[in-house]
Order: sequence, then C-alpha cells, then structure tokens
Amino acid sequence: MSGSTWGPVLRDMRLLYYSKILSIVQYASPAWFFASEHTVRQGHVLKSLARRLDMLQGKWLAKISGAMKNTTRIVLRKELHVFRLSEYLQMKTISNHAKNYDTKHAQEIRTARYRALQHNMSLHLFHKLDILAQQLIKLAKGRTQCIKENLAKAKAKREKEGKGEAAQNSTGDEKDQDKDIWGDPACVQERRLAIDQTAKDILNYRAYHEWARYQKKHRKRPLQEQILAIKEPWSLKSLKYYDKLRTRQECTMLLHCRTGFIGLRSHLYRVGKAKTDRCPYCENGPHSIEHLFLFCGGGDKKGVEMADAQRALYANVGEEHFNLSDIFPHHPEKAVQFAISTFGIPQFCKDNWDDSKKQS
Ligand SMILES: [Zn+2]
Repeated sequence: MSGSTWGPVLRDMRLLYYSKILSIVQYASPAWFFASEHTVRQGHVLKSLARRLDMLQGKWLAKISGAMKNTTRIVLRKELHVFRLSEYLQMKTISNHAKNYDTKHAQEIRTARYRALQHNMSLHLFHKLDILAQQLIKLAKGRTQCIKENLAKAKAKREKEGKGEAAQNSTGDEKDQDKDIWGDPACVQERRLAIDQTAKDILNYRAYHEWARYQKKHRKRPLQEQILAIKEPWSLKSLKYYDKLRTRQECTMLLHCRTGFIGLRSHLYRVGKAKTDRCPYCENGPHSIEHLFLFCGGGDKKGVEMADAQRALYANVGEEHFNLSDIFPHHPEKAVQFAISTFGIPQFCKDNWDDSKKQS
C-alpha cells in the first residue's frame, strides 16, 4: 500500500495504524491484557510478552512512517505522537474497569470475590486492578472543568426538552454539579468521557517524562550531533509539522532529517556502515544535515547547484534565521525540498552522493 517514497502522507498512514492495526490488537484487550509491575501470576500478561508487543509496534511504526528500520523507537513514537503499546493497553484495561466499577454486576462480583478469599484478597488478579480503577476514578473526578462543561451541555439539552425543573437546578452550586455527574445514572457518558480523557492525560504525562529522560541522556552529545527531534519536548506539535507536506516522499525526508536516521555518511559512519563521515562533495566537514544546509560549498561537482539551492532557501527563510532550529519548524516544506534536491540520497532522487554506487 505504501513505500518510503510513495503512497499516502504520514498523517493518513498514522490513521491507518489506529484504524486497521491498533483496532485489531486492542480487540477485547481489557479481558486479556494486564501487566502487573511486581508479580507474575496466572492471568497477568508476562513482561516479556508486553515487550514483544512493543517491539512489534516499533516495526509497524517504522513501516507506516517510512523511517529507516533501525530508527530509535522512542524517537519514532515522539514524531508520530503514539503511546507505547503496552502502556496504552494497560491503561485501556484500567479505564474499562473504572467505567464499570460502580455497576451492579461489578459490585456483585467484588462481593463474591471477597467472600471467597477474604484475607487473601491481594492474591486475586482483579484486586490490584480495583485499586488502580479507584485511583483513576478519583483523578477523573478532579477533572472538574471537563465534567462541568459536559454537565452544562447535558442540562442545557434537558432544558430544551422542556423540563422546567432542570432549568431551576441549573443555577445550583458547583459542588452539586460534581455530585450530579458521579451519582446521576443519566450521566454515564460524561463519566466515561472524563475517565477516557484522564487516562489519556496519564499516558501523555508518562510519555512526556519518558521522553524527557531520553532527552537528558542524549543531550550530552555535542550540539551539532543532536538531532532535531531531541531538542523539542513530547508534544503533538511534532506531528503537525508533517501536515504542511503534500507527498509521502516529503514526509519521509522530514522524518529522516528530524530523527537523524538518514542515508548520509555522518549517520552511516556512526552505525558502522561507512568508512568515514567526511562530506563526499567538499570534504570540509561531516556529511550531516547541518553541514549540507549551512556550510557545504558543494565542491566541483555540486558547487553551482548547492549555491543556487541555498540562495533560494535564504530568500524564503531570511539570513538572520538561517539555522536548522528555525528552518525546519517554520518552513518544513522548503527544508525538505532543499534536502530532496541536494542531498543526493538515491531513495529520493536519481542522483547519488556515493560515487562507487552510481549507476552507469
Ligand atoms: Zn560538504
């Protein structure tokens, strides 16, 4: 359906991941996925199996994004703004449990479980799930803004339907509003929405901090070796850069530039697939994205072409803002067009920076 330089754009391929892959993987997952942190008991998904799911997710994301196969998975998740699969499934199980926690059926099961186990309740698989569901509900109750907005909408709807009493109640104080949502059987949808949004907040919070730890570790590298994605925090913003691009080829080039996993010597040398990291055109610096954008003179072969392309880019960006941290976020489409036309990566054009691999 797609390759790295042909097929739908990144945003559409990401949608495909959610609609065709994740929907199958997560099917009935609240019934089978629960990875306990400290124990391995019957009914828990083993840590090794959870890790395997994460590895599979990495392969899927590389495929749908057009990234190089060995692109660091956390960087890929950051660019696509996708949560780690095992954490996503775990949170789905907890939120599903939280949504059904107060139903009559769930209460009866808890009572039967308690009668059967009594003092050994902690041995039961669902005991920990109960605790996590309670914590999630408590946090969801704290989402007053979302809850109030939904309550206001629900009450406005009832008023429209002509219930005069509802109109009088709508002037009640804010404490009553919270009680309505979590006690009123008619507010099931609002409760579910509050739980879903809280679960998403938790996933975002965890992903943000996991990414921050990764950033801290990799910021020790010299500035010129830092990749663009690492300079930014975990945010939906990174995915929005790709919205400005029209083709799959442009999306893939932007991804390669932002992740640093790209067919240039500086990267290939780092992973042991090139003998040197020197620029094959001018040999005056490392064959890196920064060098090609800012410093490369192009040598005899590429000099004129490089100068023309850089001049055109200067005109769009402005010389005072001519650095990668400005060019890529503000002019992603101009940046990738420059990269596609001058980098000489055969995946994107007929040219090839590697003389030894040029087709005759
Ligand atoms: Zn050069």
